[in-house]
Amino acid sequence: MTELLVRGRIVTPAGTLPRGWVAIDGGRIAAVGGEREPPPAADAVDDHGEALVLPGVVDGQTHATSWRGLDGIADTTRAAVAGGVTTLVDMPYDSPLPMDRPQRLAAKVAAIGAQAHADMALHATVTAETGTAHVDELVADGVAAFKVSSFESSPTRFPRIPADLVLALAEALARSGLPLGLHNEDQEIVLARTAEARAAGRDGILAHSRARPLAAELAATGQLLALGQATGAHVHPVHLSHAEGLRLVDAFARMGVRATGETCVHYLWFDAARDGPGLGARMKVNPPIRAGAVEALWREVADGRAAFTSSDHSSWPLEGKLTPSIFDAGAGVPGVQTLLPAFYTAAAARGLDAARLAAAQLAERPARFFGLADRKGAIRSGADADLAVLEEGSFVWDEARALDGLAWSPFNGRIFTARVAASYLRGRLAWDGGQVAARQGWGRYLPRGAGGWFAAPAGG
Ligand SMILES: [Zn+2]
Repeated sequence: MTELLVRGRIVTPAGTLPRGWVAIDGGRIAAVGGEREPPPAADAVDDHGEALVLPGVVDGQTHATSWRGLDGIADTTRAAVAGGVTTLVDMPYDSPLPMDRPQRLAAKVAAIGAQAHADMALHATVTAETGTAHVDELVADGVAAFKVSSFESSPTRFPRIPADLVLALAEALARSGLPLGLHNEDQEIVLARTAEARAAGRDGILAHSRARPLAAELAATGQLLALGQATGAHVHPVHLSHAEGLRLVDAFARMGVRATGETCVHYLWFDAARDGPGLGARMKVNPPIRAGAVEALWREVADGRAAFTSSDHSSWPLEGKLTPSIFDAGAGVPGVQTLLPAFYTAAAARGLDAARLAAAQLAERPARFFGLADRKGAIRSGADADLAVLEEGSFVWDEARALDGLAWSPFNGRIFTARVAASYLRGRLAWDGGQVAARQGWGRYLPRGAGGWFAAPAGG
């Protein structure tokens, strides 16, 4: 007798099973079947009819703790399960100080255990203060990746790391194979172009976009790739806003460099020229959303040249964005709750197999990337029973429904062609389409496991 049977259109790595089923026992997937295979007897059945059942989303880039510190975990993970995101891979730029040493990792792991509604893996970083002294210990403690920045967003919380320290980190990480992520913007170019724009009295979201030109993004991306080429480290620009960046990564990958690149869902939706006048600072992110970049970026994603797509969810309140000048507005947008419906909608609108592409870009690939594929990322026997149920239709996104404690969204008023009707975390209903059933403390810290992007995925 299995504990729970979830029925629906089951999206597996091998294909979609109409009127299929997932049998769940002890928080794990015990078996998966299609309509011709009789399911085991079950204590309970959740029948989602024609709805799609996808693997729970693994959001590879969130900033849950950059505004309210570790207390941001509760709200961010509540919003996550309502968006079908059952695993978050959180960034290291915690308020007030970044996660660059084992004591801070221990505090964050404890906060996850106490507050999280979803599972979390973690990025670590290095600072000028620590250098690479703690890298091996952080790796041993299970961090999933490292991230640094070539641009100084904050001298303490989110500092610029000079090239010599990035090189030392790349050398240290080449031994373990962990990815080295980069916030990829060249500091000198951005500071100079921003000063020029301010001096000339230019303002507004298009001025922001132009003050951080593609050249700044490609220059920083290229330098990271070269450090990967020299060291053998897995190097990974974490937000490529334009197809040219993914082409640059691909060129290095073809040379045998362990290089991957990532994009974020807002780059796949918004256009600075078309949407900037309406959204203004509500779409301010770094690197910026550009004009005329969306369709070429979609071709890169559809062809598999983006390792995965993330939300880059930033826990900033709207007040911090509505400054008189765009250059003083906080960068970053909330997105953990809209990642799956927004990605699905935009993929379907382009005639792509949106369910398959969402399962790959939002679950399978990030799980493999962060060494979580032994537990997460796919609907298959033995994996954690993390599921996201998508109901197709026409749904206007109302930012008031956001559960992240911020209640604003660049997607406000946009129509999504799918909504998250339920999510399950390790076999337990976490979101029923209207209410969050998950509680603080359900979520667990996920240490990186075996496998990775450049090794055979563990657990097949
Ligand atoms: Zn980010």
